[in-house]
Amino acid sequence: MASGTVTPAFLAAVGARLPALRLLADEADRESYRRDETAYLPTGLPGAVALPTTTEEVAALVRLCADFDIPIVPRGAGSGLSGGASGIEGALTIAFTAMDRILEIDRENLCVVTQPGVINARLKAAVAEVGLFYPPDPASFEMCSIGGNLGTNAGGLCCVKYGQTRDSVLSLEVVMADGTVLRTGGKNIKDVAGYSLTHLIVGSQGTLAIITEATLRLRPAPAPRSTLLAFFPTLESAGDAVAAIAVAGLSPVTLELMDRFTINAVDDMHALGLDRQAAAMLMIESDLPATAAAEELTRGEAACVSAGATSTVRSQTVAEADLLRQARRAAHYALERLGEVKMEDVGVPRSKVPDMLRAVERIAAKHDVRIGTFGHAGDGNLHPDLVLERGDPRAEAITKAVQADLYQAALDLGGTVTGEHGIGSARTAWLEPQRGAAAVRVMRSIKTALDPQGLLNPGRVL
Ligand SMILES: Cc1cc2nc3c(=O)[nH]c(=O)nc-3n(C[C@H](O)[C@H](O)[C@H](O)COP(=O)(O)OP(=O)(O)OC[C@H]3O[C@@H](n4cnc5c(N)ncnc54)[C@H](O)[C@@H]3O)c2cc1C
Repeated sequence: MASGTVTPAFLAAVGARLPALRLLADEADRESYRRDETAYLPTGLPGAVALPTTTEEVAALVRLCADFDIPIVPRGAGSGLSGGASGIEGALTIAFTAMDRILEIDRENLCVVTQPGVINARLKAAVAEVGLFYPPDPASFEMCSIGGNLGTNAGGLCCVKYGQTRDSVLSLEVVMADGTVLRTGGKNIKDVAGYSLTHLIVGSQGTLAIITEATLRLRPAPAPRSTLLAFFPTLESAGDAVAAIAVAGLSPVTLELMDRFTINAVDDMHALGLDRQAAAMLMIESDLPATAAAEELTRGEAACVSAGATSTVRSQTVAEADLLRQARRAAHYALERLGEVKMEDVGVPRSKVPDMLRAVERIAAKHDVRIGTFGHAGDGNLHPDLVLERGDPRAEAITKAVQADLYQAALDLGGTVTGEHGIGSARTAWLEPQRGAAAVRVMRSIKTALDPQGLLNPGRVL
């Protein structure tokens, strides 16, 4: 593993080789690159932060880091929830904020070519202007970057219909650990030549290669969404409704869940008039054209009622549907108003959602803590948010104990310790229990083959 740190000699070499590069060396500037959104994880202060604008600059930086044996942390917008972009003491953070150009929107080939620093919402808006749609939509879409989405294989609210980020990637341009620049493919929809380096690199959290450009798949823009909210007397009945919707052959674009604690936090923040007594709420959205959407929601409503929903309500306008979706996106921040929040990210097969919800309740009771659960129920991906009193001296110990119980419960149900946020530095101890020693050995040999010096985001994932 690379163990050098940024030194005056390194800074001088960068200055000589890349005189136009923006490089932050002041401590106050570097401090703001210390953390991502996992403020509670141990981090290091970067030795310097580079803000390149071209692939050539990135490649030159990687070569210089190799010469000086300095680790590199690739960083997008820093909204990650696994410590993947947090600083490493004395290392070089390469932040992609200034590589923020959308290079081409190709309407014939239904794709967009973009630099990694573009914010997800800006890309969506740019392609929407020409009637196209880029599906991946993490709840953080207004702040996170395409590079970070690719780094984490981000999920979001419409994965249940359109898949994770990986499902919208045609190819990447990357800088490898030895400074080689390569393209993993082109604009082909079908391309099975050799191993899929694209899919190996997506989700590798900056540990295998640095992404400097991406060709992303687009779709014709679907209809504006219609929304149904369904309220349930028990978590189990909400879980049953998720299964019933799948069995009914429906394919809603969103199938999100909130528990009572989260419903109340969101309603306190937005005054939406939600049913505050309900044990759980499902948000179901359809993006089918007008009458087909109404029919999909009617069938979804029937599945909810047969699973035990006590009330349902539909958005009357597109603006109302947007407001409800925004409120769901802000669930994490609604909970943050109540204390210090640690967001988790477990996933289980969809049919096991009720079991996982029951396990979360059991774990909260066992540790006498508040947990608000919400998430992408249609994907079986839940975010139990641990809400602690600010300044609670037991916070670290409780967090560790609750996390361990949550992860074990997910694994016992055939699930995963992370559905979309990544192993990063937060969950490395749980990779082997989930994947097994043989799989981790294969991952290590891939890492060693591609990055023998251990330059790229060392200590993350593996
Ligand atoms: C309120 C809130 C809601 C969220 N909701 C969701 C959600 O619904 N779904 C979801 O998946 N995530 C969600 N997230 C987590 C986060 O927004 C995503 O993980 C997002 O993809 C991170 O993007 P970023 O630009 O902030 O990346 P960063 O946090 O900067 O980096 C993330 C990882 O990608 C790597 N990386 C960044 N750029 C590159 C590059 N150019 N080349 C190689 N590696 C790179 C980094 O090293 C790091 O490991 C949420 C976060 C918050 C705070």
